[in-house]
Amino acid sequence: MSDHYQVLGVSRDATGEEIKKAYRKLARKLHPDVNTAPGAADEFKAVSHAYEVLSDPQKRRIYDTTGQENGTDNGFGGGFSGQGFGFQDIFDTFFGGGAGGGRGPASRTRRGQDALINVRIDLKDAVFGTNKKIDVETAVLCPTCDGSCCQPGTSPRTCDICHGTGQVQRAVRSILGQVMTTAPCGSCQGFGTIIPDPCHECAGEGRVRSRRTLTIKVPAGVATGTRIQLSGQGEAGTAGGPQGDLYVEIRVNADPVFVREGDDLHATLTVPMTAAALGTVITMETFDGAREISIKPGTQSGEVTTLKGLGVTHLRGYGRGDLMVHVQVETPQKLDAEQEELLRRLAELRGEQCAEGRVGGTSSPGVFAKLRDRLGNH
Ligand code: ZN
Repeated sequence: MSDHYQVLGVSRDATGEEIKKAYRKLARKLHPDVNTAPGAADEFKAVSHAYEVLSDPQKRRIYDTTGQENGTDNGFGGGFSGQGFGFQDIFDTFFGGGAGGGRGPASRTRRGQDALINVRIDLKDAVFGTNKKIDVETAVLCPTCDGSCCQPGTSPRTCDICHGTGQVQRAVRSILGQVMTTAPCGSCQGFGTIIPDPCHECAGEGRVRSRRTLTIKVPAGVATGTRIQLSGQGEAGTAGGPQGDLYVEIRVNADPVFVREGDDLHATLTVPMTAAALGTVITMETFDGAREISIKPGTQSGEVTTLKGLGVTHLRGYGRGDLMVHVQVETPQKLDAEQEELLRRLAELRGEQCAEGRVGGTSSPGVFAKLRDRLGNH
C-alpha cells in the first residue's frame, strides 16, 4: 500500500487544514468528471482513500502508530453484515460501479455473502471430534428461474433509456464548472437490461431463502471460538452469483467434571481422609472409559496424578494432551461417639493431642479451585 502522506503530498506532521487543502486541490485535478486520462480514476480513489484516513483523527492516529488501517487486517473483514461496505462499494455507488472506473453496464450477478452460525458441542466431542447435524438457512439459487431472474419463458430486454450501456450522461453545473457527469441509468438501475416479467418465486432476485440440514465434520481438538470454513455453503449470490462461504463457530459446553486448559484436562478426585492416609485404588470415569487411580498411602490434598494421553486431541498434529487428576482429601464433618473416640485415640498415639499447625511449605489444597477460577467455565 502506498503511503497516504505521499499520496496527498503532505508532510507527516501536516495539520488537518493542510490535509484538506491538499485533498481539494488533487480532487479537482483528478475527479473522473473532469479528468478522463487513463489512471486518473485510480489516482482519485487513492487520494480519496488517503484523505478518508488522514482526515479522521482516530484513523490517522492508528495509521501513524501501526501503519494499519482499522479493520483492514481483520481476517473476516467485509465478510459479515455491518462490515460489508468498504470504500470500493461507496466509490462504486457514486461513480456507477463495475471494475475499471465505472464504464459499461453493471452485472446483476454478485457473489453471495459469507454466513456465520454458532454450534454448541460437548467437551467430549471436542476431545474426539464428531459429526454434527446443523440446520442452516441461507439464500439458494431460485429453482424456478435458475438465477435468470425472469419468469420462465421470458427474457431480459435491452433498456431503451441507456441502450444497454447502463449509464446516462448529464451536464451538471458544479464548483468545477460545467461538467458531464455519468450516472447509473435510473430506468434499469445501471444493469443495461430490464426484466419485463420478474420470476414470481424469487421476485426477480434469482435466489430464494431455504432451510437445509448439513452434517458437518467437527475435527477433534476444536475449542470455543474455532471456526470451520465450508466453502460455497453460504448465501447464494443474486442472479446466479456464486455462493459465499459458511463459517461454523464452535462453542464448547462447560463440562460438570472436566476443565480444559490448552489440550490438557483437569478433574478433582475427592477421597476420604482415611483412604488418603491408608492408600487405595479408586475407579474413575474418564472420556476413555473407567480408569483406576492409585492413591498411595499418605496422599495429600492437591497432589496430582497425571494420566498421559487422556486429554484433548491436538487440533493440528498428532497425539493428545493429558488428564490431570487433582486429589482433594475430605475431612469428616460429622463424627459419632465411637468415631470421635477412635480419632482421639489416634491423635494420642501420634502425639497430636495439642497439635500446632505449620505455616507454609506444603502445596495449598485450593490449587485446583484457583485453576478453575482462572480458567472460567470452559
Ligand atoms: Zn426465480
